Amino acid sequence: MTTVHNLGFPRIGARRELKFALEAYWKGESSRDALKATGAALRQRHWQQQSGLDLVPVGDFSFYDQVLDTSVMVGNLPQRVRGFQGDPLDNYFRVARGRSVQSDAEHTACCGVAAGEMTKWFDTNYHYIVPEFSADSAFTLDASRLLEQLAEARAQGVQAKPVIVGPVTYLAIGKAKDSSDKLALLPALLAVYSQLLDTLAEQGVEWVQIDEPILVTELDTDWQHAFNLAYHQLKACRIKILIATYFGQLQENLYLAANLPVAGLHLDAINGHDDIRPLLNLLPDHKVLSLGVINGRNIWKTDLSRVLDWLEPLAERLGERLWIAPSCSLLHVPVDLDSEQRLDAEIRSWLAFALQKLDELRLLARALRDGRDAVKAELAANAADLAARRASPRVHDPAVREAVAAIDANLGRRHSAYPQRADEQAALLQLPAYPTTTIGSFPQTGEIRQARSAYRAGTLDDAGYRSAMRAEIARSVREQEALGLDVLVHGEAERNDMVEYFGEQLEGYAFSQFGWVQSYGSRCVKPPILFGDIRRPRAMTVEWIRYAQSLTVKPMKGMLTGPVTMLNWSFVRDDQPRAVSCRQLALAIRAEVLDLEQAGVRVIQIDEAALREGLPLRRAEWRAYLDWAVDAFRIAANGVRDRTQIHTHMCYSEFNDIMETIAAMDADVITIETSRSDMELLDAFDDFNYPNQIGPGVYDIHSPNIPTREHIVQLMRKAAERIPPQRLWVNPDCGLKTRQWAEVLPALRNMVAAAHTLRQAA
Ligand code: GLN
Ligand code: ZN
Repeated sequence: MTTVHNLGFPRIGARRELKFALEAYWKGESSRDALKATGAALRQRHWQQQSGLDLVPVGDFSFYDQVLDTSVMVGNLPQRVRGFQGDPLDNYFRVARGRSVQSDAEHTACCGVAAGEMTKWFDTNYHYIVPEFSADSAFTLDASRLLEQLAEARAQGVQAKPVIVGPVTYLAIGKAKDSSDKLALLPALLAVYSQLLDTLAEQGVEWVQIDEPILVTELDTDWQHAFNLAYHQLKACRIKILIATYFGQLQENLYLAANLPVAGLHLDAINGHDDIRPLLNLLPDHKVLSLGVINGRNIWKTDLSRVLDWLEPLAERLGERLWIAPSCSLLHVPVDLDSEQRLDAEIRSWLAFALQKLDELRLLARALRDGRDAVKAELAANAADLAARRASPRVHDPAVREAVAAIDANLGRRHSAYPQRADEQAALLQLPAYPTTTIGSFPQTGEIRQARSAYRAGTLDDAGYRSAMRAEIARSVREQEALGLDVLVHGEAERNDMVEYFGEQLEGYAFSQFGWVQSYGSRCVKPPILFGDIRRPRAMTVEWIRYAQSLTVKPMKGMLTGPVTMLNWSFVRDDQPRAVSCRQLALAIRAEVLDLEQAGVRVIQIDEAALREGLPLRRAEWRAYLDWAVDAFRIAANGVRDRTQIHTHMCYSEFNDIMETIAAMDADVITIETSRSDMELLDAFDDFNYPNQIGPGVYDIHSPNIPTREHIVQLMRKAAERIPPQRLWVNPDCGLKTRQWAEVLPALRNMVAAAHTLRQAA
């Protein structure tokens, strides 16, 4: 019989209970006991919701991050937080959050330490706290958290399967602070893992799930060797190990993964479907093969009959050795579709969130056990929903299809090359040297939020809302004029979120009410659902920008979110390639760009904050992604006349390996986040001889600190060592929406003063 299990469950809670409990605790508004009680209640509820599975994950619950939990478990907290006398949970939060640079009122329990660095968990939108290593890192086991959760689960009758991050992945995703060789630490780390597995075995645990997603990435021989070393050593523990891989294909690591001396292997049968066949021939007879047959990364219903078509013969062949599960932890999807009472019923009938995905899994298990006839009605209902989705006119818009088919190379090409455009733009805009600008948003004040929620609640009408937003726009224009900025922005008061704002105005997008997914710590995002062909029924931003421009003679930047970012921050369709959805978005944004130009807007910024986030896990696949991503950007941006200046903005900090792409985007001006790197990021642009204009951020907007004029001048001088000064702009790192006006004004005043100093010296 097929074993049914789960790899991990979202811990934030269907109503984000964990988020609110954490934030209340951090603010000193609730006790540690209250926080722990919320954690226990969530675990209990989530285990109940997973009932009927043969094995249920334990240890997947975390107060902040499972990788940080692993660091605690192996005794690898950074030196700077050792020797703390308080409660271990508070110390844990100190590594997670440091002494917040944002609002320090939040920090009753902490004294100042730098937070652990955060980075993306593989290609997801989840961020983990990066483990820190050095040549003298030592490890000691602290299994208390896992053992407590295990005892708790068992007391509730849960068939517990502890889940831990594997030793090789843990090392691979960490950072050697002294550039020492992380792999040299493996033996010491393994000693702790052995101890842990022995402890679990003593507790009578039969199976442990060890997550090694690094196996779906390119590994050099040292790391391949590390896998063999690790699992040959752990083999001595009297416990059955299921190595879990997910998010992609094993490809050349298939042989390695299949032959590690463990009891089972989990494979992502969605993203790694092509691995299944070769694996069947490689996998030793005694091993369990767990197949992740339900997509843990999106929100679509599974085509259950289609899965059964290929799964049934495997069940036949593998018998007891076949396990089924979601492709990866369900951490990456919202909890419960049943909460979505406002979502359009038709669209809802196409979706499945975590709980519904587990129902699908149970259904597949029944079909395998008792035959399809036993679940005939359910399979028929599933097939009907999917057929309706496939046939829905809301999904398929022939006009959009035609427009995408008609895209040719010319659409993505500016009329003239950069130098000629630059001359025309300079003549039109008449900007000084070192022109100053901002990235788009100004503080989202209490008044803005109040107006928005009143509007949503229906207590403020259209006209009232419009005039409230206009007042905010007028305020930001007034402030920018007073500051003496050169290229102004309207401030984005009317935007709740840079993707949602556009998604709400495009056909083909839907929005959930409670579809939150953990991004990091207590932070969640609610990705819009891109379900159909994308059409822009009407202009989305023109009225606001036109109004803003009417208040000033300075150039007003039109402000748009780019197609690649729209795509990468949404749940996307599984019935067509991402590249196709991206082209549709590109055409919609292009139409907006042209409308802005038509309305007399001379400078248009198209943000591509998430371009890098879409990079595939394997480098071999980067080229293809970057090619279609650049194409989409160019289609969106390049319909304009030479004299219209296109800006783009990106707020991440690694350009080295994508410089060709950045150059191919051919924006007249790119603004980037650089202030914390001391302008070293510009080396990539320098080495590449990047030909267009650059605005390297000189004001770290993540911090309430106000940069001084001298500091900004100094940063810009460093920039000018790398980029010819006539191609430099002066601007903050990113948008200012999370800051207060009281911080923003003095910072920008200094920024403008710095630009004056630079001009005089020039
Ligand atoms: N224009 C957006 C803003 O200023 C850009 C945000 C971003 O890059 N994440 O808020
Ligand atoms: Zn940014």
